[in-house]
Amino acid sequence: MIVVQTLAELRQARAALPNPLGLVPTMGYLHDGHLSLVRAAQGLSAVSDSSPGRGGPSPSASVAVSIFVNPAQFAPTEDLAAYPRDLARDLDLLERAGVDLVWTPTPEIVYPPGYQTWVTVEEVTRVLEGAVRPAHFRGVTTVVAKLFNAFQPQRAYFGQKDAQQVAVIRRMVQDLDFNLEIITCPIYRASDGLALSSRNVYLTPEQRAAAPVLYHSLRRAAAAYAAGERDPQRLRQLVSEAIAAQPLARVQYISCADAASLQELHAPLAAPALLSLAVYFGNTRLIDNWVLS
Ligand code: AMP
Repeated sequence: MIVVQTLAELRQARAALPNPLGLVPTMGYLHDGHLSLVRAAQGLSAVSDSSPGRGGPSPSASVAVSIFVNPAQFAPTEDLAAYPRDLARDLDLLERAGVDLVWTPTPEIVYPPGYQTWVTVEEVTRVLEGAVRPAHFRGVTTVVAKLFNAFQPQRAYFGQKDAQQVAVIRRMVQDLDFNLEIITCPIYRASDGLALSSRNVYLTPEQRAAAPVLYHSLRRAAAAYAAGERDPQRLRQLVSEAIAAQPLARVQYISCADAASLQELHAPLAAPALLSLAVYFGNTRLIDNWVLS
């Protein structure tokens, strides 16, 4: 496994790798959710993509990972300084997973002095996460565009855990004619249902024990949907009632939106919908979602 830091080193190492190259962008502090993306890139685990013509995962000939806690996607009030980091452990996990190339740039390498160019996706970033984290997606799309330019991958792997992020990146790739395939991988959960996240480490033992309520609330609504419930307000309510029973949970939003446009639904569901939520446990903000289709 080659580990590089400067852009020049990255370009040189990347040029020596066989195509197709699969890229897995991360902010580090890796867990099994990240490693499931690596395995998907290697052709070893599921992709949740249902785009026409996709069967199982097709292996990329080489797999690259970026580790970069991107300051541009954190608001001043958010947890940039406190975001968990353990580069030595991350590199060990990636080496053992059989990754070919890792880029670990510094903020100064990605945003050198004088930096002033930003990629902005419009409508789809204004709702859900974008509504409560206004500059977040501008930071995400800018860094992901730079990663695509730096790595020139044929495929890039993202988690359904961050459902809106995938929708925004797909939009950017389409609108800016990036010549690569975006592959969405299913949410990887702990055995009690909690979606794995680097931020789970902030939870106290009591909060960690309470947090699977997110999964159970979504599953409750998904069961109602499977039994024929199509009223978006009722589906939101089922989630909300389940979470309200957990005193440590403080809801930021619960949404039932069109899965393609992410616009909030008010009429009965007639197409795939995304049920999603953001909930605080103390100062820790967790997100989760479920596709109803
Ligand atoms: P992050 O390091 O949080 O920026 O995540 C890097 C990538 O891993 C993103 O595409 C995430 O959606 C994905 N990811 C994070 N957690 C999970 C999970 N539990 N299951 C699947 N993908 C995940």
